[in-house]
Amino acid sequence: MDTFVDQLKSLCVVYPTRAKWVFVPTHAIGRTLGERLVLEGTDWVNLRFVTPLDLALRMGAPFLVERGIHPSEEGLGPALMMRLLLDLPQERGYFRPLADHPTMAQALWTTVCELRMAGVRPEALKPEVFPSPAKHAELVALLSAYEHFLDQHNRGDIAAVYEEAVKHPDWCPIQAQDCWTELPDTNWSPLQSLLIDSMRGERFHPRAFELFGVRVPRRLMSRKTERLMADVTTNELAFVMSPASASARTSRKSKIALFHAGGREAEIEEVFRRILATGVSLDQVEIACASDAHVALVWEKALRHNWPVTLGPGISAAFTRPGRALIGLCDWVETDFSASHFRRLLQSGDLGVSEEGEGFTAGQAARLLGRAEAGWGRATYGLALGRLHKSYESRAADQDASDEDRADALVKVEVTARVRNWITALVASLPEPAPDGKVPLQTVVSAVLDFLERTTTRGNALDYRAAAALQDYVVELRALGAFSCALSESLRFIRERVQSLYVAAERPRPGHLYACRLSQSGYAGRAHLFIVGLEEGRVFSSSTEDAVLLDDERGRISADLRLSTDRIDEAVYAVLMRLAVSAASATFSYSCRDTREFRETYASWLMLQAFRLHRGDATLSYNQMKATLGEPKSAVPEDRNAALSSGGWWLRSVVGTGDEGIKVLSSAFTGVAHGWTAEGRRESAEFTEFDGYVPDAGPVLDPCAPKTVFSVTELEKAAECPFRFFLKCGLGVRPVDERERDKDIWLDPLTRGSELHEVYAALLRRARDENRRPNIDDGAWLIALAKERLEKLNEEMPAATVQVLEGESKDFLADVELFLEAESSNLTSTPTGVEVSFGRPLDNDSEPLARSEAVEVDLGNGIRFQIAGRIDRIDQVGAASFKVLDYKTGGFWPDKWQGSFNRGRRLQHALYGLAAVELLKARYTNPEVTAGVYYFSSRKGRQERVTIPAPAKAAIAAVLADLRDLIINGQFIRTPDEDDCTFCDYIAACGGKVNRQAAEKLPDSKLGAYRRLAAHV
Ligand code: SF4
Repeated sequence: MDTFVDQLKSLCVVYPTRAKWVFVPTHAIGRTLGERLVLEGTDWVNLRFVTPLDLALRMGAPFLVERGIHPSEEGLGPALMMRLLLDLPQERGYFRPLADHPTMAQALWTTVCELRMAGVRPEALKPEVFPSPAKHAELVALLSAYEHFLDQHNRGDIAAVYEEAVKHPDWCPIQAQDCWTELPDTNWSPLQSLLIDSMRGERFHPRAFELFGVRVPRRLMSRKTERLMADVTTNELAFVMSPASASARTSRKSKIALFHAGGREAEIEEVFRRILATGVSLDQVEIACASDAHVALVWEKALRHNWPVTLGPGISAAFTRPGRALIGLCDWVETDFSASHFRRLLQSGDLGVSEEGEGFTAGQAARLLGRAEAGWGRATYGLALGRLHKSYESRAADQDASDEDRADALVKVEVTARVRNWITALVASLPEPAPDGKVPLQTVVSAVLDFLERTTTRGNALDYRAAAALQDYVVELRALGAFSCALSESLRFIRERVQSLYVAAERPRPGHLYACRLSQSGYAGRAHLFIVGLEEGRVFSSSTEDAVLLDDERGRISADLRLSTDRIDEAVYAVLMRLAVSAASATFSYSCRDTREFRETYASWLMLQAFRLHRGDATLSYNQMKATLGEPKSAVPEDRNAALSSGGWWLRSVVGTGDEGIKVLSSAFTGVAHGWTAEGRRESAEFTEFDGYVPDAGPVLDPCAPKTVFSVTELEKAAECPFRFFLKCGLGVRPVDERERDKDIWLDPLTRGSELHEVYAALLRRARDENRRPNIDDGAWLIALAKERLEKLNEEMPAATVQVLEGESKDFLADVELFLEAESSNLTSTPTGVEVSFGRPLDNDSEPLARSEAVEVDLGNGIRFQIAGRIDRIDQVGAASFKVLDYKTGGFWPDKWQGSFNRGRRLQHALYGLAAVELLKARYTNPEVTAGVYYFSSRKGRQERVTIPAPAKAAIAAVLADLRDLIINGQFIRTPDEDDCTFCDYIAACGGKVNRQAAEKLPDSKLGAYRRLAAHV
């Protein structure tokens, strides 16, 4: 029973034709109440639900318009505050330095509205009220600036309309013969109260319940209300705060139910299952949500199950695709156009990029950006994608590449060009700051409107509504006029537009489920009410003071201003009053786990009170409630027949049934059955086809096959993890490049190493060309060269911060100097070959010893390899004797450099030695390579050199024979060594148990070659 609804019913019966006016805070409440009266059997005429603003406009607006004053764009409030705040001097400002804070403008706007609706003008803000003179001065300035803006633009805000309205009582549509009342316990502002109280006609004080154990909030006391005692048999929820008095009054059958769930989604899923189980029509059900996130979840779930639904508060535009895309755009610009951020935006599906429209998909664009290694800054996209474009072009023209590879590269050339043009155009559409660091706000608005129109996607009707509403909402910023500010500040305006907009707000509709906030519940009088999201800290906000005006200041300015304690009292009272008038079967619930933050959550006091009321015992504790609620509900239904979808039905059918369930599932889903078998075989001690045993692939990948050429690095990697070798070279699987650039690192080890190689090579070639050794006089030239390369790199992939750039540049240059020092004092060897490439196209490579043909290494007994690679350096140490050097630009760990072959994973010194002999034959008679040297050239590597004397051919043959055996027998086992997986790009293909499983299979007789290879130290 709802006392107020009953009061309206009797008014309609007693005064069937008389004009009856009802003040309500929103039209939605008025229409809902009107419909409810009819549905509950009360016919009415002349019952008029009005908001105070409706009357104020009728009474005041004509006079304002007559004076040339037009309504202001109220929705523009926070944006206007931001603009006015930015105009105030930053120095000695109080709020001004916080202008960048995301919620500052909204907080200021709320306060300004509150002051104006309380009739407080700038001159009423006395300095003695404020402990901070700066705060006083700034608030007065802001309020004055707002009034000045209204004056200047001939605008009147809502406060101005109310103030004008009370001056013209004759214009009031409520006549002396009419009667009127108001929705009880509504927090009218002082100006609204003034207008309502000035009405003519017969006033009926509204009826409401007296809530047991709850005081009427301070600011509501002045509103005259007739208080009635609730009857526990009809209004059980009126006793939420006094469960003892409810049970003392009568023995009753409680209509309350309670549950908890293992996550928010599981909670809403359970609500939907319960709705289904009741068998009632959806328009008999209301879901009152403790947060807007719950409202959004209800909407998503209803959409998934195709249930019609209306939402009281609507959905935040920030939850829709166009809204998310706009926020993403702002984030992207604010992160200095970070490519990793833009990739995520592309992958989110919120950008409208399509094969038909742009000629590529968002996924393709994201992958290309990853591959291009774009970093930050506007220029990075053109440069990085341009570089990638060039590399695809040269691959497409590479005569040595297969036809398939060339065709693939050609497609990528086109797609890369399209992606580059698209992204650079997008970047260019966002204005660059002028020399004073500012951009015109209206230019940003135009760019954003264009982005909204062309680049955001729409997936459903709500997205279309959101896009249209956002368009209008952003256009409102035009009213701020010509004005320039920093780009980040202009984006705050855009962000505020998205975050403050709610779309598709609707009242309860026939045939539709209805979801609303707790304070909006119960107006439709639906028979089933679900109160969800009752976690501690979520239902009511904490009693922190207002960010703009503190309680003490508020109290001294006007008794009508809301204090922090009022805010809590009023929020709690509003919810309790809505529950009190509900006669529905009520189900209270909360989630005991936050699955996004992986933490336990606890029930709010409202949940506990409902439990106590349900059990008729005011002494029950949280622990007792938790124990009574039992196992939390999950997304899997307890009974499969209660499932909302076939997925839920299957899950419940299989969970807990062991092998039986799996058998049934397997018969319907062969893919799942196959996966199950694979997992079982991997867990066995046998080396199986699910672990990389693929004998058929052996002959295809045979490294000794006549036309097969592998690089030495590929062979070393095959020994390290045969499975990865099979994925890469056998199946042609390429990992999706998902790497994020770390903002604290500019040059990753690979880029840094390759740059050092280039600088080293330039130095050695210069000296070689002049027929001398490098010496300390090369220093200035070398450092200038290194700096030039660093500058170019910073252009192509800018460092995130100046500090990172400076720190890494310093280290890089120090390593270059160290190298020069070492080379200047080297009197024992002469660099003969530098970066000598073989078996690969030479392009513009003019290194004398380099050649494009592969080198054949014949070790006898059919062990004949065609190999390719690039030798960092060949040093002459005698008339015809040489050493091959390999630079290592990282740290040196002695334990890792024991032995010669390291289980087949260290082959360079041996194979490059053999290859170098073949290459040197072009210039020397009987050349000999005596050793391979791993040279740790940087400061990290402490200039260590690991010298390995050239191994005997028989020893090399033994290692390569075992490696070949492993490959041709298809023993592509996954590595048992966890360290090998640390930086592996294929980790997604393997899973967490891979190393243990591999280790357990090593004794299998099918892995003979792998075991032999592992014995070569
Ligand atoms: S993750 Fe480990 S086992 Fe898997 S392919 Fe990479 S290195 Fe091999």
